[in-house]
Amino acid sequence: MESKNKEKSAERLAVSKIRCGTVIDHINAGKALLVLRILGIKPGSSERVLIAMNVPSKKMGKKDIVKVEGKYIGEEELNRIALISPNATINLIEDYRVSEKRRVELPSVVEGILTCPNRNCITNSREPIKSRFHIVKKGEEVRAVCHYCGRRICELDRYVV
Ligand SMILES: [Zn+2]
Repeated sequence: MESKNKEKSAERLAVSKIRCGTVIDHINAGKALLVLRILGIKPGSSERVLIAMNVPSKKMGKKDIVKVEGKYIGEEELNRIALISPNATINLIEDYRVSEKRRVELPSVVEGILTCPNRNCITNSREPIKSRFHIVKKGEEVRAVCHYCGRRICELDRYVV
């Protein structure tokens, strides 16, 4: 019982420690760096980012957490995370408190996030065309269909730009 409480308070701490910003919780274990990539936070970015990987989680066994300090990330951007972590939750933090909590929602279309594996696809030519995929959910599996050539992909984490 005591260790359970400890685990709980440790979890809470991990979520609420920043003063303000965006916390992405319940990321599938090992996907935190991919989440950063999806959010456009790359080496050389100026955002202050805290990453926790393989944190024990009652719900998921293990999970990752990403905290971006001093920045409220937009809903559309955050929903892209659902492509690789459909159970991720978003906490907006103000003055160390959670001001808003919600789950990510699978977008119906994503642009510029995934690459098309079809070499002959127009998005892989020299044309300056952004990739565009329609997202479909089949049971628990998330798939994407290229808008331009119709190529279907699953295991989307392999195709993140
Ligand atoms: Zn394509």
